[in-house]
Amino acid sequence: MQLASYTQGQWRTGAGTGQTFADATTGEIVAELPAATIDYAGVLTHARAIGGPALRRLTFHERAALLKTLAKALGERKEELYALSRSTGATQADCVLDVDGGLGTLFSYASRGARELPNSHVYIDGAAEPLSKSGGFAGQHICVPLEGAAVHINAYNFPVWGMLEKFAPTFLAGVPAVVKPASATAFVTEKLVRQILDTSVLPEGSLQLICGSTGDLFDHLRSQDAVAFTGSAATAQKLRVHPAVVTHSVRFTAETDSLNSCILGPDAAPGTPEFDLFVAEVVREMKLKAGQRCTAIRRALVPAQQLDAVSTALKEAFAKIVVGDPRVAEVQMGPLVGIAQRRDVLARIQELRQEAELLTSDPEEVQLLGATRDKGAFLGPTLLRVREPHRARAVHAVEAFGPVCTLMPYSSVSDAVALAKLGEGSLVASAFTADPAVARELILGLAPYHGRVLIVDRDCGKEQTGHGSPMPGLVHGGPGRAGGGEELGGIRAVLHYMQRTAVQGTPKLLEALARA
Ligand code: NAP
Repeated sequence: MQLASYTQGQWRTGAGTGQTFADATTGEIVAELPAATIDYAGVLTHARAIGGPALRRLTFHERAALLKTLAKALGERKEELYALSRSTGATQADCVLDVDGGLGTLFSYASRGARELPNSHVYIDGAAEPLSKSGGFAGQHICVPLEGAAVHINAYNFPVWGMLEKFAPTFLAGVPAVVKPASATAFVTEKLVRQILDTSVLPEGSLQLICGSTGDLFDHLRSQDAVAFTGSAATAQKLRVHPAVVTHSVRFTAETDSLNSCILGPDAAPGTPEFDLFVAEVVREMKLKAGQRCTAIRRALVPAQQLDAVSTALKEAFAKIVVGDPRVAEVQMGPLVGIAQRRDVLARIQELRQEAELLTSDPEEVQLLGATRDKGAFLGPTLLRVREPHRARAVHAVEAFGPVCTLMPYSSVSDAVALAKLGEGSLVASAFTADPAVARELILGLAPYHGRVLIVDRDCGKEQTGHGSPMPGLVHGGPGRAGGGEELGGIRAVLHYMQRTAVQGTPKLLEALARA
């Protein structure tokens, strides 16, 4: 499969042999990315001159209706995406998370657009602000689409959901998108974009795809453009200070690394439903995407007196995880995306082991179902334990982006909060407790350092949506190390791609705006 980019209304394939991508299980080459000649300035011009005006001619409701039509059409072809995703190491559960999760986000934004936005070209933000004694002069905030392009740079772990969760709010806002998927799984995103274009639902110019390098794209960014980045903190730091981004105040959001915590409440002793739910959650987070989730549980915090009981329960549960070829139905955890990622995670595990002990068996010696170790990027579920977490550094700072979690004890609820904060800002923290006082102390302590806080007890245990799963209507992002960005969160994500302007004038004029 030769990957191509879709720019300025055409598919562009490079010449000669380029970067190749192997099946994560078999090592067979599944895709090749030859370097294509792309006019990066032209990509932005096309978005601004063709895509933007076409989108802005539509109302919010018209754009929402197109999103819904698109989501329905893609739903009929999702098996093709599942099949390709297997090569990235995705099990059936991982495919559902990525593909169905992405389609669900499209549907969600389509219905929010119809319900929460007006059938108009302008969003009236809040009530009018009286500015004169007689009431003859007032102010009103309005939001209108940016007239530039939204550049979306995505991480490799969610080639479908990652693209659609950025695309849906951008499209609804009326802004054209330029999507750059991570190379390792670009073959899945490329297929998705082909499916989208096949539907002919979107106006030309509203979606372009760049596979491979972004070339000099950033040099051509201007003040009406926006960048939404997902990936490592190191890449985010580099792109955030690009001269064009800084000079033209380009809106830049980042979703980056995160050392997320999962806390067992002091009330959740062995034998309680919360204890069992906690163990199940840590195990589930390891299995899904083989721990390659920005929201995965990296640190499991437990009351000091429960450290041994939790160690035993998790060790036993980790040993039962069936690892192997994701195409085999019984397999619960597939390989990492590739050999390079496996090498990287092994190096991070070594760093963590300088201060933490390994409780599970050698991750390199993992037993496999339907696959051989020499061909695939397999790694066994890895549980580490640190007994003095305040004296440790790496466990709060080093992200091993794979099936790796470190268990640590805390002495009090405030100590658990203090440990979680050592992650310097995370996407999510979860706590398993049935005690409202504990929950309150945790929520208020954790909230300044987290984008999302999940509290699970026996009453919501069965229907809770999961530590690692962002929801379209809730904030996805986090302060500090997590990038400082915010995605999803309902209509707020749409408004991010719009200019909020205060308009002052007579009330009659402002009322007319609402009908625009
Ligand atoms: P990465 O190496 O930083 O790459 C992320 C994206 O940036 C890829 O599309 C990559 O393209 C691109 N990129 C790299 N250098 C670039 C440059 N100089 N100019 C323009 N684009 C550039 O991260 P990754 O290894 O793919 O993803 C794993 C990391 O992402 C983990 O740290 C994880 O925590 C984080 N992540 C965070 C979230 C979140 O929502 N917070 C979600 C998923 C993952 P190429 O692939 O072509 O290099």
